[in-house]
Amino acid sequence: MKRKMLKCGIIPHPRENEDLRQIYFLLTYACNKACPYCIEPNVHLGKYITEEAFQAGMQIAHHLDMQTLYLHGGEPTVHPNVVRLAQLAKAEGFQVNMFTNGIRMDILHELDGIVDEIRFSYEPGLEFMFQEQEKWKSRIKLYIMATTDSYPTEESLMQVVDRALDLGMGCKVRTLNPVNPYAYEHQFVPYLHNKLLEMPEEDIVCDGNKAAYWIKDHSVVVRLGNMQLNPGHLKYSVDPDGVLHSRFTHSNKASIVLSHDIEAQRTFWEPLVERLRNI
Ligand code: SF4
Repeated sequence: MKRKMLKCGIIPHPRENEDLRQIYFLLTYACNKACPYCIEPNVHLGKYITEEAFQAGMQIAHHLDMQTLYLHGGEPTVHPNVVRLAQLAKAEGFQVNMFTNGIRMDILHELDGIVDEIRFSYEPGLEFMFQEQEKWKSRIKLYIMATTDSYPTEESLMQVVDRALDLGMGCKVRTLNPVNPYAYEHQFVPYLHNKLLEMPEEDIVCDGNKAAYWIKDHSVVVRLGNMQLNPGHLKYSVDPDGVLHSRFTHSNKASIVLSHDIEAQRTFWEPLVERLRNI
C-alpha cells in the first residue's frame, strides 16, 4: 500500500488509527510520583519550561503543521503555570490533550474546559480516577497500563474497562513499551497478545505506531506497546529547555538484562510484526 508523507516528515503506517500530527511539550522534568515503568529518564531533574520557550515551541509546531499539542512531562500538573500554558495552546488553535497521574485533582479541575482531553494514567487502587464524565467539560479518559501483575486475568482487566465505560469515560488499554528493565520484564500480557493470533490479520490496526485492536464494540483500543509497526517514525517533542526533538529518548535500555523467556516470546511474534510492518 502506498504511504504518504506528512508535512512534518512523518510517514504513517497505512492502518494508522490516529492523526500523527501531534507534538509533546515536556512542561517539566518533575513529578510527584515514581513509577517503575516511567519512560522519561529525566523525570526528577526539576526543570520547568518558560512561557517564552513554550510560545516559541508552538510556532515551530505550527510550522510543522501539528494539530494536537500534548501537555506532558514529568507530570504536567506540577508546572506552576500549567493553566496559563494550556490557555495559550488553546488560543493558538491546537487540540490540547494531557496525560496525568491525577494526583493534583485541584489543578485538573482548573484545567477542565480549557484542555480538550484529560487522560488519567490508571493503576489498580487509584479509586479517585473513576470520574463521571458528565461532571467534566473536558473529555476524560482512563488509560490502563496492563501487566499480568496488575491484572492476572482478562476478567480483572475488563472489570476496570467496564467501570470506566459505565461512568461515560473514554478508555484505552496499553501494554508496556520495553524501554527500561521493568517494562522489558512486564511487556507481554498473554491474554491480550494471544488475541492477535485469533483474529484475522486485517483486523489488526496501528495505533500511535503500535499494533492494536478494538474491543467493546469498537469503543476501546488495546495497544501493544512492544509491537512497533513503523520503527523509523518521528515523534516530536519540545523539552523543558525549549529544545525540539524528533524522537523520544528513552533511557535505561542499556541496563536491560535479556531474559531467555522474553526473548523467546519476542522471537515468536517477530514474523507477524514483520508482516504487519510491510503492509
Ligand atoms: S506519573 Fe508519569 S511522569 Fe511521573 S513517574 Fe509515573 S510515569 Fe513517570
